Amino acid sequence: MPAFEYAPAPESRAIVDIRTSYGLFINGAFVEASDGNVRKTVNPATEEVLAEVAEAGEADVDAAVAAARAAYDEVWGPMRGADRAKYLYRIARLIQERSRELAVLESIDNGKPIRESRDVDLPLVAAHFFYYAGWADKLRHAGFGPDPRPIGVAGQVIPWNFPLLMLAWKIAPALAAGNTVVLKPAETTPLTALAFAEICQQADLPPGVVNIITGGGEAGRMLVEHPGVDKVAFTGSTEVGRAIAKSVAGSAKRVTLELGGKAANIVFDDAPVDQAVEGIVNGIFFNQGHVCCAGSRLLVQESVAEVVLESLKRRMAQLRVGDPLDKNTDIGAINSGAQLERIRELSAAGESEGAERWSPPCELPDRGFWFAPTLFTGVSQAHRIAREEIFGPVLSVLTFRTPGEAVEKANNTPYGLSAGVWTEKGSRILAIADQLRAGVVWANTFNKFDPTSPFGGYKESGYGREGGRHGLEAYLAH
Ligand code: NDP
Repeated sequence: MPAFEYAPAPESRAIVDIRTSYGLFINGAFVEASDGNVRKTVNPATEEVLAEVAEAGEADVDAAVAAARAAYDEVWGPMRGADRAKYLYRIARLIQERSRELAVLESIDNGKPIRESRDVDLPLVAAHFFYYAGWADKLRHAGFGPDPRPIGVAGQVIPWNFPLLMLAWKIAPALAAGNTVVLKPAETTPLTALAFAEICQQADLPPGVVNIITGGGEAGRMLVEHPGVDKVAFTGSTEVGRAIAKSVAGSAKRVTLELGGKAANIVFDDAPVDQAVEGIVNGIFFNQGHVCCAGSRLLVQESVAEVVLESLKRRMAQLRVGDPLDKNTDIGAINSGAQLERIRELSAAGESEGAERWSPPCELPDRGFWFAPTLFTGVSQAHRIAREEIFGPVLSVLTFRTPGEAVEKANNTPYGLSAGVWTEKGSRILAIADQLRAGVVWANTFNKFDPTSPFGGYKESGYGREGGRHGLEAYLAH
């Protein structure tokens, strides 16, 4: 069969207007950092500097928390739920109106393919605001007591893998429940959070209800440790999550942590192979594998391993790696040089520990941060690539013979965020899902998200739930 060539189909970036510099969003206005520090954010696909962004210092964190406190006491806390809902609906509609612009901006700053930012991230961001807007005047019916109250000021720290979506997961339920927020985006992906700050202005959200402070890990640390913060919400690495849990221990602060994962995607011998292969690909190569719930360990029943792997390799050879703004692209850029280094280091460890590495022939661009889709076979449970979160487009394949062995291997991880089960038998899905220590178990699908559905982990994947009715609990005192 002749190779099918795609013509380039680049999305125009003319729709975004990136300023040369951005301030901090405090009390409804953009302000410079008090000590004048800035850091640069780059396009990971080209290494082009996109903008200079203010670096929050201690005085700025103080100012943001004070603004959030005043807004909570004077405006947002006392406001009727139905009125808070109006603002949230307005924000949701503005996100929809500006979704193409936001999707392009996200792809430029993060490196993810436009197909994903346009078709997954942005629709989910708007859906979260719509969903939680609906709860704002119905909190008494959420199942958390007759008179649930907001907690106060929420300090929220988010990572770089789904910048705007993680912002939505944090801000929408917090505001719906009547809290005010100070949010710190990741240092490599601040731009969509700053665009969201403009949306708050457009929506006439009262000043101080949402504050966005940019900066590095130190700004995040100052925010979560600030005595004026009543509730901490963090998504990121288990290491930083552990440090946060220690720092708030003994205080009255409420905490939710959404940390790493090393999910098993289990394929039984009766699974439809083509469908399972699509699910495996979606499980690990979606968003370059920068997904906490990625199906990074494939557990395939030994009797079908050969046929599944053959089909998987054929499918991987079709994946198009390259320009994130090209609508044909399946795998975009790795978010940063540091993350690329980590993926390379763990992949090298896989080889040196004896696993067999395979990637399809794949031309990578000269500039920017890139990693070809990679598969490791002959992986044992002791290998680092089977135990540690790689957070990149790298799949570790293990086999099993019996359902019991599959469950044992799937649960043999310090994490417990998600898992996948592929089988044609409904009874087997229920029996296996019941035994998996994972917050989310997908059956014959993977990486499906919905604002109505709770998400969160067991063990070192963190605690608390985000999304759905359950996600309100973290923001209500009851
Ligand atoms: P981090 O956990 O360091 O970063 C997540 C967020 O926390 C960022 O906004 C970061 O700021 C901030 N932060 C860093 N240090 C502190 C601190 N002491 N107190 C408060 N906030 C802090 O993740 P990395 O970006 O370093 O990624 C490292 C690894 O973490 C990845 O390889 C991956 O395995 C995992 N990870 C998991 C994620 C998940 O969704 N579960 C998401 C991201 C990463 P800044 O970025 O500005 O330094």
